[in-house]
Amino acid sequence: SPLLEVRGLTASVKETGQQILAGVDLTIREGEIHAIMGKNGSGKSTLTKVLVGHPHYEVTGGTILFKGQDLVDMEPEDRSLAGLFMSFQAPIEIPGVSNFDFLLMAVNARREKSGLPALGPLEFYSVVSPKVDALKMDPKFLDRNVNEGFSGGERKRNEILQLSVIGADLALLDEIDSGLDVDALEDVANAVNGLLTPQNSVMMITHYQRLLDLIKPSYVHIMENGKIIKTGDSSIATQINEGGFKSIALV
Ligand code: ADP
Ligand code: MG
Ligand code: MG
Repeated sequence: SPLLEVRGLTASVKETGQQILAGVDLTIREGEIHAIMGKNGSGKSTLTKVLVGHPHYEVTGGTILFKGQDLVDMEPEDRSLAGLFMSFQAPIEIPGVSNFDFLLMAVNARREKSGLPALGPLEFYSVVSPKVDALKMDPKFLDRNVNEGFSGGERKRNEILQLSVIGADLALLDEIDSGLDVDALEDVANAVNGLLTPQNSVMMITHYQRLLDLIKPSYVHIMENGKIIKTGDSSIATQINEGGFKSIALV
C-alpha cells in the first residue's frame, strides 16, 4: 500500500466550524517527492497541519491512511513516532529547552519505541555534531533554546537539522525556502536530498521554482479552495513560474 493515502479529506477550524479542506485526494508512495503549490489561502498549510493532527482543526470527513494505519484518531505525538515529520511555517519557540535537549528527547523517544537503549549526551553529541556541520550551523546553536531569537534562516536550518537527526518516513516541509538566501537554500536543499532514500518521501509546499530546481519533485500538485485541482510533473511549476496560476489549464 502507499505510504500516505488521503481520500476525500474535509476539515474545519475547530473553534468556528469554518471548512478549510474541501475534499483532498493525495497518494504518496515510498521514495516520491511531492510539491504542493497554490495561491495564498488555498489550504496548503492547513493540509499539513491536519495530517499531523494540529489541535486547531477537526477532520469532518474522508480518510488518512499512513502505512495502512488510520491517522485521524491518533495523537500528534503518535503520528510523529509513526514516522511523520512536519516543519512549521512559523516554528514555535520552546522556552527553557535547548536544541540539544530537545533533539536528544526526540531521538530517545523513538529509540524507546523500537526497544533500543537511550543515548547519553556524549554519545548523542557524536551523532548530532556532523549533522550540524553539514548544515553549516554554528555548534553553539545546540545550546540555545529551541527557536528562541532565531533568525528566519536559522529556524529553517534548524528544522532541517531536526529532520536529519530525528529522521522520518514522510517529511512535510512547509515553505522551507521562505526567508532563505540563495546559499542557505542550497545548504538546506542538499541536506534534504541527502536524507532521501528509496524508502522515504517528502511533501513540500513552495511558491518557488528555485526550490524545485534543487529538490526535484516526482509530482507537482496545485491546491485551490481546499482541494488539489491539478496534478502533474515539474513542468507545471515552470508554467506557473512563467505565467502565474491563471496559466494552468484545469482540465
Ligand atoms: P495556505 O497555506 O495555502 O496559504 P492556509 O492553509 O494557511 O493557506 O489557509 C487556508 C484558509 O483557511 C485561509 O483563508 C486561512 O485564513 C484559513 N484558516 C486556516 N487556519 C485557520 C484558523 N485556525 N482559523 C481561521 N481561519 C483559518
Ligand atoms: Mg500562506
Ligand atoms: Mg501556508
